[in-house]
Amino acid sequence: MTEPASRKSDIQSQWARVRGRLRDECGDAAYRAWLKSMTLYGVDEGRVRIGVPTRFLRDWVSQHYSDRIRALWNDEDDAIAAVEILVTGRTVAQPAEAEPAPLAGDGAEPSAATEEKDISAPLDPRFTFENFVVGKPNELAHAAARRVAEAQVGVRSGGNPQLPFNPLFLYGGVGLGKTHLMHAIAWHIRTRAPHRKVIYLSAEKFMFQFVRAIRFKDTMAFKEQFRSVDVLMIDDVQFIGGRDATQEEFFHTFNALVDQNRQIVISADKSPSDLEGIEERVKSRLGWGLVADIHPTTYELRLGILQAKAETTQLPVPGKVLEFLAHKITSNVRELEGALHRISAHTQLTGGTVTLEGAQEVLHDLLRANDRRVTIDEIQKRVAEHYNIRLADMHSARRARAVARPRQVAMYLCKQLTPRSLPEIGRKFGGRDHTTVMHAVRKIEELKAADTTLAEDIELLRRMLEN
Ligand code: ADP
Ligand code: MG
Repeated sequence: MTEPASRKSDIQSQWARVRGRLRDECGDAAYRAWLKSMTLYGVDEGRVRIGVPTRFLRDWVSQHYSDRIRALWNDEDDAIAAVEILVTGRTVAQPAEAEPAPLAGDGAEPSAATEEKDISAPLDPRFTFENFVVGKPNELAHAAARRVAEAQVGVRSGGNPQLPFNPLFLYGGVGLGKTHLMHAIAWHIRTRAPHRKVIYLSAEKFMFQFVRAIRFKDTMAFKEQFRSVDVLMIDDVQFIGGRDATQEEFFHTFNALVDQNRQIVISADKSPSDLEGIEERVKSRLGWGLVADIHPTTYELRLGILQAKAETTQLPVPGKVLEFLAHKITSNVRELEGALHRISAHTQLTGGTVTLEGAQEVLHDLLRANDRRVTIDEIQKRVAEHYNIRLADMHSARRARAVARPRQVAMYLCKQLTPRSLPEIGRKFGGRDHTTVMHAVRKIEELKAADTTLAEDIELLRRMLEN
């Protein structure tokens, strides 16, 4: 495909703007570490292709930034539907150089931590147990993390604590609080039992240190760092996958520490058995202790978190706005926080008060990205299950009340939860006319007001669909 020159320069200037906004949003340090090496490969059929030099960067950028890149690009060009991150290679003569620099702590200005040769990454002061809102989806992980932290307190220096479980393996999707819980464990121990040595580091930092140690032929010193540790926490171990030497080293370190009754805490985005590129024996060893998953947030938890965060900001946010956000931003807690920050920044700049309309406007791109997640197919499936009718009846011409009503409920939910138009919805319900959909929406609204069972059913379905 040959693109006209003007289109090409269009794309380049869009790309420059997307990068600029990304840099503003995530800050210079993160930008330099993860994003600077991105090169644009091309855009075709609504797909943006971006190259990065290493597999590790590809995984990291895809996981943490590709949704955002897509949303930013979407502001430039409606037709962009997907962002693909590719490894575009680089000579492997100096593997350490391909590693991204660690984000904080030992960057430009040397911190106390590096001077002490402490390899633990800095802890976020906000990530404490006190600031962690507990709900059904995270109660097991939270309780386990607390037990692990408490077991270290009250143990004499050099003493041997009774470990509740070893290792503790926390897993769950992005932005659900894994890092928060690990930092909370570290804070708890550091403030109550400062003589216990706690190391927290991300798996990529672990790899970075290890690769550097190999390069400087200094793996002994690397191992030595872990010898006297009481609690070792490694975050995001899915990134260790596929790197044989690092994996091997990780495994040895791990085994040695477990044998010495040292507490290990691991996090990942998947359960041990689902981790990719990790050897079977490592996987099975990772699952030996307690495996606690953090489930996607529920509406109640999201609202609880928002209320807690709103209290700590200066800005009064009306309950209605919080409820709206808890309904609409269902992906993860990080996005929820981001939404609150944007609203608060915007309101401070414009000097206004927080209103529902204002919030909707400031967050339109975020809301759009979240809306996309519920599809008409899912709604039909859930509603059919709920009312115990066949999925085929969503499309069929049958008009018996027992199927017609659930079908109307499904149409209503499609209108509420997806950005689809009435004709689009009609088409997905066996080619019905848009007036039929409109009628269904009105009918359900009317019935809901009088029929509390129906209203509850719909609320329940909405919550299930939004999670
Ligand atoms: P993960 O490591 O699982 O990707 P994080 O621990 O970084 O997620 O959490 C993302 C953001 O959401 C952090 O700012 C964290 O404080 C916040 N967060 C997540 N879960 C909770 C919770 N239950 N209560 C309060 N804040 C939370
Ligand atoms: Mg994390």
